[in-house]
Amino acid sequence: MQEDPALTSEVDRLLARRTREIRLKGEINRLFRERIWSQTAKTIRAWMVWVALLDVLTMALNMLMLPAAIADSMLLPGVILPPVAVAVVLLWRKPQTPWIQGASLIAGMFLILLSVALVGVTAGGEFYERHLNIMLFVAITSIIIFGIPLAWTVTIAALALSIYLAFQLQNPAIGFGSAVAATLFFASGIFATVAARRVMTILAQKTFLFELRDKRRVAELAKANDRLELLAKTDPLTGIANRRWMTETLDHLWGSDKRCLDGAAMLMCDIDFFKKLNDHLGHAEGDRCLVEVANIIQENVRRDRDQVARYGGEEFLVLLPAVSEDEAVSVAERIRKSVEDAGLPNPGSRLSHRVTLSIGVAVQASEEAISPEQLQRQADAALYLAKQSGRNRVLLHRAQSSERKAIPSAT
Ligand code: GH3
Ligand code: MG
Ligand code: MG
Repeated sequence: MQEDPALTSEVDRLLARRTREIRLKGEINRLFRERIWSQTAKTIRAWMVWVALLDVLTMALNMLMLPAAIADSMLLPGVILPPVAVAVVLLWRKPQTPWIQGASLIAGMFLILLSVALVGVTAGGEFYERHLNIMLFVAITSIIIFGIPLAWTVTIAALALSIYLAFQLQNPAIGFGSAVAATLFFASGIFATVAARRVMTILAQKTFLFELRDKRRVAELAKANDRLELLAKTDPLTGIANRRWMTETLDHLWGSDKRCLDGAAMLMCDIDFFKKLNDHLGHAEGDRCLVEVANIIQENVRRDRDQVARYGGEEFLVLLPAVSEDEAVSVAERIRKSVEDAGLPNPGSRLSHRVTLSIGVAVQASEEAISPEQLQRQADAALYLAKQSGRNRVLLHRAQSSERKAIPSAT
């Protein structure tokens, strides 16, 4: 629903109308029926079970309390009802095509109403009219309770009144005029009941439309939130993670006990003589160079596990979870070489006229208790030494006796 703009505008259009003018059609109507189906089916099944139980109970009481001849005459029409009610219960256990549902319910209601009426008609006398009234009462409860389409409700109402009129016309105790007058009297009551049912249905439909609109708004808000969160965590120039995102990743990886269980490596990468590139080629060219270098770094790491972040102006931090020292150094060397081989111009560089990268590497062995901040300081220290010892190189920060010191691993 949320994806369909036609439905969305239809929901807004319907909600802008007055309540009594709400009419659900097509797809929205189908969705509404689907939404209320289980509740409607449950109500109908419960009603059927109760009517069947009441019928059995009444037949048993009649056997006990009425003269045998009358009770016997009531038995045959009375036994029609329970199996019909059970059949409707079975058909309404699972969703069927609408016409099967409608036909089964209307046919079932017709037989149930007919059964109630016939019990009185066959017994005759005082029971004749009484059971016709009971039949109308049964019909009215179903009209109020069943949340079914209006056409079905009207059909049930019409069936009840037709049965009433047909049997009243044959009632030996009253004349034609009185039969018609009584039918009209009950017809007005049933009409009011149908109208009340229609209002209830429209209110349920309005609630459903509000539900659809709220769901859509919540989804839109969640989407906007996700977009904002991504923007807050992304570097706008290069499109890669920013420092904040990297900090969150580190906190997550190091967990609550401040340990990175699988080990990790950090690569602190810094473009050599970048200031000179800006000075010679301009800031815009400097920006383009940053984007290129960010792309090259990303192409040389595992997209699914490693994280690359722009950490400062021309500094990039690469996090490699679960790697050995050799693997970390070889990734760093691959990045350094790829940047050099890309041949990006840096006319002011004192090394060559190309853009080059110095990288400091620090590795934490698994289960070693080093905080991400410590590891980063070690990578920074290795980078500092890489700059000192000539730039365009990878340097590994390595533990030696009690302290760690940086040693060159590649030039
Ligand atoms: P070194 O080899 O020692 O790293 O020298 P360097 O010139 O690269 O380092 P330094 O820290 O002196 O200069 C970094 C320069 O990066 C200074 C600043 O103008 C530039 N810079 C920082 N952010 C941006 C940016 O977003 N775009 C551009 N074009 N330049 C930037
Ligand atoms: Mg720098
Ligand atoms: Mg630099």
